[in-house]
Amino acid sequence: MLKGKVAVVTGGTRGIGYAIVKKYLENGAKVILFGSKAESVEKALASLKAENPAWEAEGAHPNLTDAKEVKAAIVAVKEKYGRIDILVNNAGISDSTKIDAYDAETFHQVMQLNVNAIFHAILPVSKIMKEQGGGCIINTSSMVSISGQPSGVAYPTSKFAVNGMTLSLARELGPYNIRVNAVAPGITKTDMVAALPGKIIDPMIAAIPLRRIGEPEDVANAFLFLASDMASYVTGEVLSVDGAMRS
Ligand code: NAD
Repeated sequence: MLKGKVAVVTGGTRGIGYAIVKKYLENGAKVILFGSKAESVEKALASLKAENPAWEAEGAHPNLTDAKEVKAAIVAVKEKYGRIDILVNNAGISDSTKIDAYDAETFHQVMQLNVNAIFHAILPVSKIMKEQGGGCIINTSSMVSISGQPSGVAYPTSKFAVNGMTLSLARELGPYNIRVNAVAPGITKTDMVAALPGKIIDPMIAAIPLRRIGEPEDVANAFLFLASDMASYVTGEVLSVDGAMRS
């Protein structure tokens, strides 16, 4: 579904991002994954190579909160591959601090990675996509971007901002044949969620209409659809992949 496409995936070293990277490689894309550290990038690349030596994957670790570093990493991809067809802004941090325990720095850190970092990547990529005549950008939102959450106000605030950026840029970049969408996962079985004890996870599962936690692959499938030509007329959409747990 993505044969010959060049994709950049931030936060691609583990969890949902790693599942997206794998799904894109399985579907014929060349993938450049961005991670936070050289070691985690190397580990992810080694595990991908072990699965299929023919997959074309490489990695980088720009500090996503630094606009200059992100621009340099994006320009390097464009210089090497000649184009960027797909940008997935997936790196993100969660937060559950109660309001009385908050300080400005904690709030700022969440917004820096979950919102500003996306903007840092979209700035150079949208220019490249305009020049090449189109492309597609997909941001990772969350089900809490619809309902909020009872603590950690920075996290839902950041994901509401992701939806706002997605809808606005879909309008601004649509005339350049650039589609901009988001995926809003529910509780997804990444390492952190998988480690939770039954007494915490069981009530969560009971509250999900589909009665199970999402797998990273459930979410990656939505990223595949939105990146593919199957979604050629889909833009400005925030696609929930949460077993209907939002609300
Ligand atoms: P994870 O913690 O397993 O992975 C996060 C990724 O972001 C990693 O690859 C990590 O390297 C990268 N990252 C973290 N801090 C970074 C930094 N400072 N600089 C660069 N990269 C950094 O998380 P995940 O659960 O796979 O989450 C991925 C995305 O999905 C996030 O945007 C998260 O908000 C969203 N999400 C997750 C869930 C869930 O239940 N897991 C639910 C809804 C939304």
